[in-house]
Amino acid sequence: MSEVRVRIAPSPSGNLHIGTARTALFNYLFAKKNNGKFILRIEDTDAERTSQEYVDNIFDSLKALGLNWDEGPDVGGEYGPYTQSQRFDIYPKYIQKLLDEGFAYECFCTPEELEAEKEEASRNKKAYVYSKKCENLTEEEKAKLRAEGRKPAIRFNVAKAQKAFHDSSILEFDDLVKGKLHMDTNLIGDFVIMKSNGTPTYNYAVVIDDALMKISHVIRGEDHISNTYKQILIFEALGFEVPRFGHLGMILAPDRSKLSKRHGATAVSDFVEQGYLTEALVNFVALLGWSPSDGQEIKTIDEIAADFRINEISSSNSIFEYDKLKWMNSHYIKMLPKEVLREKLKKYLTKYDLSELTEEQYNRMIDITYEPLTLLSDITDAVAYFFGGDKVEIDEKAQAELETDLSQDVLKSFVEQAEGWEWTEENLHEKLEVFRGKFKEEKGYKPKFTMWAIRAAVTGRLCGADMVVTLAIIGKENSLKRAKAAIKTAMV
Ligand code: GLU
Repeated sequence: MSEVRVRIAPSPSGNLHIGTARTALFNYLFAKKNNGKFILRIEDTDAERTSQEYVDNIFDSLKALGLNWDEGPDVGGEYGPYTQSQRFDIYPKYIQKLLDEGFAYECFCTPEELEAEKEEASRNKKAYVYSKKCENLTEEEKAKLRAEGRKPAIRFNVAKAQKAFHDSSILEFDDLVKGKLHMDTNLIGDFVIMKSNGTPTYNYAVVIDDALMKISHVIRGEDHISNTYKQILIFEALGFEVPRFGHLGMILAPDRSKLSKRHGATAVSDFVEQGYLTEALVNFVALLGWSPSDGQEIKTIDEIAADFRINEISSSNSIFEYDKLKWMNSHYIKMLPKEVLREKLKKYLTKYDLSELTEEQYNRMIDITYEPLTLLSDITDAVAYFFGGDKVEIDEKAQAELETDLSQDVLKSFVEQAEGWEWTEENLHEKLEVFRGKFKEEKGYKPKFTMWAIRAAVTGRLCGADMVVTLAIIGKENSLKRAKAAIKTAMV
C-alpha cells in the first residue's frame, strides 16, 4: 500500500465540535497505526459562515487534545497551503478540464428559475433533480445569456461521468466501516461545482484537495455518504485515483436525538472550560465506535493507536453518555500528577484570594479536596470554606445540626479547650481524638456527631475534606471565631 495519508477538514463555522474531534481522533489513530500522515485542512470556502476566531479555536482544541497534525497550517507540508481560501487559484484549472471533456457545463439558470423547478417537483411530489436545461446550450445561446448580464455557474454532468466509468447507473463503493454501499446516480441531479461568483463548492474543492494532497483514506461522518457518490464521480472524471472511504456512525445524545447544546457542552473548548480534562475527552470519544481488544477502557492515546483497527469500528451510531465521561474525568483527575493538578485548578479559584494561604497550605488544601472531584470546576465549591477568614456561610443542613443541644454542648467545650491547643495537624489529630473520646465516655455522644458539630460550625457544611487538616489550614484564630459564632448563648 502506498503511504497512508488522512485528513481532518473542518469548516470554521463554529468551535471544534466534539463529533469532529472524534473524526479527527480516528484519522489520527489510523495514521499512527499505519505510519502515515495526519493532515489538517481548513475548509473555509463559505466566507460568510467562517471566522478567524473559529479557526483559532480549531487549532487550539486539536492541540489540546494532542491531535497534532503532520502537515497543515503552522507546520506546512509538501502539498500546502492547507486552507481552501488560499487555494482559489488552483480550482479553476480543473474546472476547465471538466468543461473541455464534457463532464461539466455552464448553467445560466437564475435562482428564481431554479426555485420554480423545485416548486414544481414538490407539487408533483417528486424528489428534486435539476432539469439539465443548460446541458446543451449552443455557443450563440450562451453568448446571448451572457449579454443579458448573466454569469454562469458550473454544473457537474453526473450521467456523463457515470456512463464513462460504470456499466449501469448504479455506483457502488466499499466503505471501510460500513461495507458495500451503492446508489442509483439517476437520483443525483447535476450539481453545482463552481458558483457564478467563482467560488468552488464543497464537493468539488474537497476532491481537488484530497487528490492533490494525495489523501489515501477519507474517514468522516456518515452524513457525508451522499456526497461520496458525487465525489467519486469527480475523482474519476479528472483521472485521479479514488481514495478509500470510511464513514463513522453519528454521535447521539442520551435521548437518541442529535447531540446539541441543550444536552450539555458540544464544543471541545466548552468541555475544557467546564473542567473536563483533554485526556479524558480523548479516551472517551475513542470509545464512541471503537472497543479495546482487551476490554480495558481506560487507555492513553498511544495505547489506543496501537490497538486501533478501522475495520472493527462499529458502523452504528454511538450514544454520548455524559455520565460516563464524568466518571472517566474523575478517574483522570486522580491520575494527574499533583503539581499539574494544583496548577490546573487555579483557573477555577479566581474568585478567592489565594494569598490568604501559603503555598504549603494551598497544596494541602488540594490534597484533601481533589479526590471526589468530577470536574475540575467542582473545586470552586469544594474549597469555599477555606476562604473568608473568620466568617463562613452556613448551609441549611449544617444550621439544623448547629441548633441541637448536642452541637451546642460540643462547641462550647471545643472553644474552651482548643484555645490552649497547639495548632498543628499532628497535635489537632491527637487532641480531637481525646475530645471525641471524652464526649463518648461522659455523655454517650457518638464521635461522628461530635465532629459534625465542629465541622458544621467551622465549614458551614456537614460533609467535606479531612477535618483535622481543614482546621489546620483555616488556622486557630479563624476556626475558633467561627465556632464561637455558632454558639447561641452569650459565650462570645
Ligand atoms: N468541511 C467538511 C465538514 O466539516 C469536511 C467533510 C469531509 O471530511 O470531507 O463537514
